[in-house]
Amino acid sequence: MSESQGSNDPRIVLLGPPGAGKGTQSANIEERFGVPHVTTGDALRANRDVETEHGTPREYMEEGELVPDPVVNEIVAEALSNTQGFVLDGYPRNVDQAEYLAEMTAVDVVPFLQVGEEELVRRLTGRRVCPDCGANYHVEFDAPDEEGVCDECGAELTQREDDSEDVVRERIRVYEENTEPVVTHYRESGELIEVDGEQSPEEVWEKLREAIDAAI
Ligand code: ADP
Ligand code: ADP
Ligand code: ZN
Repeated sequence: MSESQGSNDPRIVLLGPPGAGKGTQSANIEERFGVPHVTTGDALRANRDVETEHGTPREYMEEGELVPDPVVNEIVAEALSNTQGFVLDGYPRNVDQAEYLAEMTAVDVVPFLQVGEEELVRRLTGRRVCPDCGANYHVEFDAPDEEGVCDECGAELTQREDDSEDVVRERIRVYEENTEPVVTHYRESGELIEVDGEQSPEEVWEKLREAIDAAI
């Protein structure tokens, strides 16, 4: 396969704190740019009770802590092995993961969704998810047509166990400690593009799309 990067298959790393809107915007990117949405969070939730030499992912996720790097790196290596372009959501979450990613592939652009802590807490505690198709909602900001029911597939919506306020606060702390250095790393390498994530989902998408178009 050619080394050259076609403009149709951008390699995107979407960064932002928990609740910044990465999942919501990744769905737009997947649709507009035709690249797969690679999300470590969803992959880990699907395998949360699989025993590894580090225990199960559930033990870490319930507490809001990071799942050990070898487990997560393997998921990403597998997902990237059969695609040219991608939107990575939820990875890398620490500098070691960023270094591992750099050994696997170059990236074209690293958009960073900026959202303040209190807004993150409001978004995450109000988040509802579809267990069947993965669609995301918010009880107030993005409610489904019928309360508690997925617009896309009709399944009953659920709340993630780690979206309780105390676990949310811990996830934000873990983000500040481990993932903010990743943001700094991409800022220094010149790949980071800052997007104000506190606007409406439509406004965020417009800015994000412009930033990606300009970078590829
Ligand atoms: P968020 O909505 O907070 O961005 P995710 O769905 O991306 O949440 O992640 C949920 C949980 O899965 C995290 O709190 C963490 O326990 C685990 N996780 C996801 N991605 C990673 C990663 N790259 N490294 C370590 N743990 C991860
Ligand atoms: P992340 O993947 O970064 O954790 P999500 O995309 O799951 O974030 O969004 C977290 C919650 O906030 C969801 O309930 C979603 O519906 C809502 N949300 C996403 N983007 C916005 C926005 N721009 N304004 C208000 N709420 C939003
Ligand atoms: Zn659904």
